[in-house]
Amino acid sequence: MRVSIAVQSDVGLVREVNEDHCLALNLDDIDQSWLVGVADGMGGHQAGEVASSLALGMLASSLGDGPGDGWLGALQQGVTRANLSIFEAASARDDRAGMGTTVTAAVLSREKMFLVHVGDSRAYLFRDGRMEILTRDDSLVGELLRKGDLTPDEARGHPQKHVLTRAVGTQPDVAMQLLERSILPGDRLLICSDGLHNLVADEDLGGMLVDSDLDRAVLNMVRTANQRGGFDNITVVAVEVESL
Ligand code: MN
Repeated sequence: MRVSIAVQSDVGLVREVNEDHCLALNLDDIDQSWLVGVADGMGGHQAGEVASSLALGMLASSLGDGPGDGWLGALQQGVTRANLSIFEAASARDDRAGMGTTVTAAVLSREKMFLVHVGDSRAYLFRDGRMEILTRDDSLVGELLRKGDLTPDEARGHPQKHVLTRAVGTQPDVAMQLLERSILPGDRLLICSDGLHNLVADEDLGGMLVDSDLDRAVLNMVRTANQRGGFDNITVVAVEVESL
């Protein structure tokens, strides 16, 4: 499999610290398997930055041991381990109490993509001119939307948009979304934090992602979010599948 990957993480225009982290790691030189992911940390005293960094670090080291019985199980185990170590680190120090993070990460290996997701970062798959959202927002607003208690318009400007219903590290156990999909040459995968998708609509992201230059596409997304206020940290990982 051949892929090209573009990554950007930007503090935005309002926050002082970038508490997002991202990752693009070659897991296997021979098969060209890749791990990509985004984590958006939360917690006072810059603990969010610690949580997001810990989560992706634990996931990378966990997956570095190979797929074991399969990449999906390995991703699940990696996030379970990350959850426990963040939870324990948060319990050990007052200034880190309650820290946590979103995690949205994918392994691309051979003709498959394996995805794990907790929180309100998102993954999208762009194929044949269509942008499909792969992840469920684990947020209060996301749940109200799914129940039909909010319209998409009401959801967009909702004052409690940031309230998560699931996060990595805030409880001793974590439930997660796991997903396996086939991939095709030409597919583009986008993983981003809410600092992007809160300010740029899905259709617009799809429009930017078709750019023949993936680095330019990702820079364009970050610039657009900043032009619209840059209220939060903005992190984007884009992957194009060139050939299987
Ligand atoms: Mn965020």
